[in-house]
Amino acid sequence: CLGYSSAAPEICERTLIAVKPDGVQRRMVGEVIKRFEQRGFKLVGIKMLQASEAVLSKHYHDLQKKPFYPALIRYMASGPVVAMGSMVWEGHNVVRSSRLMVGETDSSQAKPGTVRGDFSVHISRNIIHASDSVEVAEKEIGLWFHTAELITWETNDHSDLYQV
Ligand code: UDP
Ligand code: MG
Repeated sequence: CLGYSSAAPEICERTLIAVKPDGVQRRMVGEVIKRFEQRGFKLVGIKMLQASEAVLSKHYHDLQKKPFYPALIRYMASGPVVAMGSMVWEGHNVVRSSRLMVGETDSSQAKPGTVRGDFSVHISRNIIHASDSVEVAEKEIGLWFHTAELITWETNDHSDLYQV
């Protein structure tokens, strides 16, 4: 567990949040970081990169047989200024909480107050990725980050956020 040797294991849960190419193009990176910071999650890794097809095919391997898969990969690797901000956050129930903050996959069904519900209109351009389970989150973090890119640090407001 990064930073908290004596902490309860559940606060060490991590997730992968990624601002997708449409989100970067639409200058949503700051808005997304702001929401997760304000919620109280701890940022432990962040980078901007051009996603390779190799990484994307692993990231979305469970969707390979879906009809929208080729378009999804094109979208995630699209355009001359394609970039991705990938953020790994730690916090209590961060996987579940972040899925709620992100909203439904289909932006037209996403509730107001969620990232997708506030800023996007269509399932094929839904701005943001969030891991959907703890197991998947660990795999995705390993796919997008080298261990050395994840920073061990302690937040000073820990006891204001958690009863530990
Ligand atoms: N997607 C799409 N059409 C669909 C379903 C999904 O274009 O009918 C895209 C969309 O960008 C979505 C991604 O594929 O975010 C991954 O799908 P998943 O079901 O894992 O949704 P998520 O976990 O992102 O909410
Ligand atoms: Mg998913």
